[in-house]
Amino acid sequence: MRDVMRRNEMKHDEIKKHGSGEDLRAALRAIDGRGYPAYKSLAGTYICPGYQLVIEHVQGDPFASPSAVGVLLSPAESGLPAWTHETKARRTVSEDVLTRAFAAAAEEVSFHAGGSGKSGLIGSSRPGQEVLERTCCHIGDDGSVTFHLRMGFPADGRRVRARSLEKMLFEFLPSIVQRSLTFGGAGEKTLRSACDLADDREAVLAALKEKGAVAFIADGSVLPRESGVSQRPLPHAVRFESPDSLAATLRLPHRGEVRGMLIRKGITLIVGGGYHGKSTILNAISLGVYPHIAGDGRELVVTDPTAVRIRSEDGRSISCTDVSPFIGHLPDGSDSVHFLSPNASGSTSQAANVSEALEAGAKTLLIDEDTSATNFMMRDALMNAVVPRESEPITPFISRIGDLKKAEVSVILVAGSFGAYFKVADTVIRMDAYRASDVTEKAKEAVRACGCEVPEAADPWHLPSFDRRPLPCRELLGDRVKMKNLGLEGFLAEREKVDLRYVGQLIDAEQSETLASCLLWLGRNAFDGKRTLRECVCLLMEKLEREGLSSLSHGTVPLIAMPREQEIFAAVDRYRRLRMQREK
Ligand code: ADP
Ligand code: MG
Repeated sequence: MRDVMRRNEMKHDEIKKHGSGEDLRAALRAIDGRGYPAYKSLAGTYICPGYQLVIEHVQGDPFASPSAVGVLLSPAESGLPAWTHETKARRTVSEDVLTRAFAAAAEEVSFHAGGSGKSGLIGSSRPGQEVLERTCCHIGDDGSVTFHLRMGFPADGRRVRARSLEKMLFEFLPSIVQRSLTFGGAGEKTLRSACDLADDREAVLAALKEKGAVAFIADGSVLPRESGVSQRPLPHAVRFESPDSLAATLRLPHRGEVRGMLIRKGITLIVGGGYHGKSTILNAISLGVYPHIAGDGRELVVTDPTAVRIRSEDGRSISCTDVSPFIGHLPDGSDSVHFLSPNASGSTSQAANVSEALEAGAKTLLIDEDTSATNFMMRDALMNAVVPRESEPITPFISRIGDLKKAEVSVILVAGSFGAYFKVADTVIRMDAYRASDVTEKAKEAVRACGCEVPEAADPWHLPSFDRRPLPCRELLGDRVKMKNLGLEGFLAEREKVDLRYVGQLIDAEQSETLASCLLWLGRNAFDGKRTLRECVCLLMEKLEREGLSSLSHGTVPLIAMPREQEIFAAVDRYRRLRMQREK
């Protein structure tokens, strides 16, 4: 990372300066009151007490994106002991702890220096409830810390306000760094408990594998969120407790024995009356692919990391996805093996979402009836009697769910009204006033008593084929392709919107930014009409593994966060300009 940063320095602002903090102070005083571009001369590396300061990139005017600044702490300066970063999980969570501490300390003084536009801003990444790998903070193998932040270099109108920047750089920043990026500042206790939690979560993941399970929800977890716009835990919520028949007790390295509900591989149904907490539990499982911070309530809700949330998404575009396991002969004669649509229906979009999730390596599908297309999920006997099967292109999900299970794909499905799924389910969990009970036997009994027919699929099952090959895409190959981050809505690629609103496990605007860069990288390095989409994404993942997230950018290190491979597929699949073909 240090190397990456050094490379960036060179390339970017043609940094020539190297000096001490006092050199910087003198340079700053010399440009006081001059036109704003005079700030550019400060780009450089300065040895300050406690860290090395890198002014990577200076903004063009006080209203432009704030300047990029880096802070480098040697192992002795950071004081971080080896245990804070000796596994990947620990490193990520320790970086997260430093990032949060930095955000909190910076918040106290951000904008205090005053001036026009973004003058005085001091900030960096602001993580939410999940712990993500981010470019903003990197702890090296030796315990060194590289931290990237943004600063609004202050101005009076368009004049350099040197005294204010001096205050920011020599008063505010050293105190923020001391309080957040060092072992003493971030706090041994905080780091220790974050690392313990990371270890425990890893142990749960290992237990899932060993026990053939896809999710674990520890007793005492708080699943509901404060509100539709806040991801903080709901105060006074009913805490989760596993029914005895589904409970397992795991031995975790730090918390010791933890009891909770184990959802095994296969087909799990979550049923219950409206407003009884079904969607809440599925949402918690969906986000269990990420670690959560202590106090979130979902720290020990852990899900198969490949699990993908599936929903209907009418209006989305589909490029060459094989939806034929679910969609047969369409009335307009279109080909469902290489299905193309700029405007998919509820059912075809959901079918495509399933096929694409499998292509992206999902071993668990998470589906909520609330956000599903009814005709994709079910078709009852009366309907079959009136509308003959031959004129219905859709093979409903219920007729395929058994095939998916045979293909080692598990499904967790929230069903409030589709009782027919009782017949195919391995486990049925009932939510009643937010309490879970195991009603599998009762459900099976009801099937025997009332009779229930699951319509057989007309065609034999086959896995969708994953041989789509993205063609070179002119729009991604230009000299200056403009990408604009729209946060959780997605991003723009040369004015073309990649709509990610319904990609439910995209949780951070910094991930969207990464996805935009991933698409661009794929367009420039992988899409050639010969590689399959899977091979393209594989190439990208190898690069990220090898060179790190910040290698996606050539200029200043961007503040971005790691998405999962599944979301990278989702973004590519929603880019409307991309054409794919089957044959070589
Ligand atoms: P369903 O999907 O069964 O209709 P939801 O999961 O949407 O129900 O939950 C309905 C409401 O109950 C939501 O406002 C949710 O925040 C709240 N809720 C869910 N679980 C709990 C809980 N364990 N304790 C308190 N409130 C909860
Ligand atoms: Mg619901």
